[in-house]
Amino acid sequence: MTSLTRDFFIGLSNSTILNKSAKKFGTRFGADRFVAGTDFDAIIPVVRELNEKQISCTMDHLGEFVMDRAEAAYAKAKITHMLHQIHEQQLDCHVSIKLTQLGLDIEESFCIQNVEQIVEVADKYGIFVNIDMEKYMHYEKTLAILKQLRKKYSHVGTVIQTYLYDVERDLDELEDVRLRIVKGAYKEDQAVAYASKKDIDENFLRIAKKRLLGKAFTSIATHDHHIIEELKKFADEHHISKETFEFQMLFGFRVDMQRQLIKEGYRFCTYIPFGEDWFGYFMRRLAERPQNINLLVKDVFYTEDNKVKKQPLIAGAAALTLLVCLGRKKKKASKTV
Ligand SMILES: Cc1cc2nc3c(=O)[nH]c(=O)nc-3n(C[C@H](O)[C@H](O)[C@H](O)COP(=O)(O)OP(=O)(O)OC[C@H]3O[C@@H](n4cnc5c(N)ncnc54)[C@H](O)[C@@H]3O)c2cc1C
Repeated sequence: MTSLTRDFFIGLSNSTILNKSAKKFGTRFGADRFVAGTDFDAIIPVVRELNEKQISCTMDHLGEFVMDRAEAAYAKAKITHMLHQIHEQQLDCHVSIKLTQLGLDIEESFCIQNVEQIVEVADKYGIFVNIDMEKYMHYEKTLAILKQLRKKYSHVGTVIQTYLYDVERDLDELEDVRLRIVKGAYKEDQAVAYASKKDIDENFLRIAKKRLLGKAFTSIATHDHHIIEELKKFADEHHISKETFEFQMLFGFRVDMQRQLIKEGYRFCTYIPFGEDWFGYFMRRLAERPQNINLLVKDVFYTEDNKVKKQPLIAGAAALTLLVCLGRKKKKASKTV
């Protein structure tokens, strides 16, 4: 995919107006392939089914652009409810949270208060909390909050994005922390992040190998079979126990490969996003993979059994509105991202 198209979808993911509008309509345009649903209780059977296949899960209650204390409090209540349910239903599941959803852009102390309340409930149940890594502008603050929490709680960790030049320097300080290694999903300036896939992949392998040789648990979160194969070989050659790491993929991605990894005896965890605020997440997935755009087109024009929708006018109008929105935003996106 050209970087222009990637930038375009990343630009859309950053649109507050489109994110807010999409909330009103439930998952559309093929997003339900990647977003499990809008309500946690309704997707418990999905989690249970994955658990039965030896797949553990991490749940992400989606939320973007939270600039209002009530919205952050709502997110906290949803995540806390999820923790109670995971405990009561005995699910093999942990949670992934985003600090901006809990008020980082409103006031740091307010965000810390919210996160601490979540981590305290999770700690009581022995459930791990992963703090997802967001845009680079939040990187230092995220690490500082993590360090503060770790003085009191051990079941909390974060994510290393290997598109960032300098993340390796933080690895020593995080050697006891459970970490997820990813390439990185946001549009970052070349002053702080690699732009080429080759550099990002090399950094991923360097960091993942260092972690595999270390003592804390590591999640290798990628759909990239080259990276997965190389790390499997590395772990094998260095007699690294399969209990000390896991592979992670996003819900809806590379299901055959997931099955194969489990068959080979690797630990596997699926990242399950859910909630009404699905638009930004879905746009970032479209930015990553051109094939996903087919889902959007298919969803607008075809029924589940591949027939053209009965109301082509309505479907066409929906598609047209979408394309107009996309087109309008395209100009803006190239300026703003
Ligand atoms: C569990 C999980 C959690 C994440 N958490 C974060 C986070 O906290 N912060 C953050 O910034 N980012 C996060 N990400 C997103 C991540 O940073 C990447 O943007 C995303 O994973 C895409 O990169 P990739 O490693 O999968 O490889 P890509 O570079 O997208 O793909 C590499 C190659 O893999 C193959 N491939 C990829 N997908 C498929 C597919 N569906 N079918 C067939 N082949 C495929 C293709 O050959 C492709 O060229 C997370 C990702 C995962 C999986």
